[in-house]
Amino acid sequence: MLSMKNLSRIYRTDTVETHALRDFSLEVGEGEFVSVTGPSGSGKSTFLNIAGLLEEYTDGSYELDGRNVATLNDRERSRLRNEKIGFIFQSFNLIPELDVFDNVDVPLRYRGFTASERARRIEKVLDTVGLASRRKHLPSQLSGGQQQRVAIARALAGEPRFLLADEPTGNLDSRMADSVMDLLCDIHSKGTTIIMVTHEPTLATRAERNIFVRDGQICVGELPLELAAAA
Ligand code: ADP
Ligand code: ADP
Repeated sequence: MLSMKNLSRIYRTDTVETHALRDFSLEVGEGEFVSVTGPSGSGKSTFLNIAGLLEEYTDGSYELDGRNVATLNDRERSRLRNEKIGFIFQSFNLIPELDVFDNVDVPLRYRGFTASERARRIEKVLDTVGLASRRKHLPSQLSGGQQQRVAIARALAGEPRFLLADEPTGNLDSRMADSVMDLLCDIHSKGTTIIMVTHEPTLATRAERNIFVRDGQICVGELPLELAAAA
């Protein structure tokens, strides 16, 4: 479970203070699929980056999987992140020189699994995302939708409890976006907790729970019209 209480994130420069998040409280239980929408600049990415232990928060408390994040040192944080969290981004962030198999292998090598364990996991996740026959392709030889599926395979290979997705369909046409969403729903149905930031109301409503963020805060009982229409 993920639990944030009265979290704030303030960015300070010499002249400006930006409250990217303020009094942000959220609980996401085991196995949920939550979408996060809101205007540009409302704090969605900041929230996701803090959730994924990529970024610090200024005040409040955050517990991930029973661990109080504030008490962890850098090493413990990276370890928790590597073991529990998979990330997907709008830009697929694949390594262009590596084929599909080797891209998925990157985080597994980092974790120090044996070669046979890595191969077992890679074949399994490539099968899940429907790209087993493309294992020798380079990213440039794949469509955008396929590249995102490789990125999803890479995120899943570590068998994370939480999958965090920041605009995962942002670079895809609607047909490919739908197929990536189908895949995420499928992954969720097998037990992975998913938190997805998206601009697209029609995609957001495919999650079980929709959260709307405005000015760094969760808006309660105030579903924007386009979301309500799609719900
Ligand atoms: P969203 O993902 O909803 O577009 P962000 O979380 O990226 O919103 O940003 C929230 C607010 O925090 C915005 O006002 C943005 O300009 C500000 N912000 C984000 N990152 C930084 C940063 N590194 N330094 C200063 N301000 C930032
Ligand atoms: P999809 O229908 O799976 O979204 P596309 O219609 O874009 O994908 O591509 C059809 C097929 O052509 C895919 O199987 C993909 O592997 C292959 N393909 C796409 N782009 C390239 C490329 N630049 N070089 C080689 N093969 C490609």
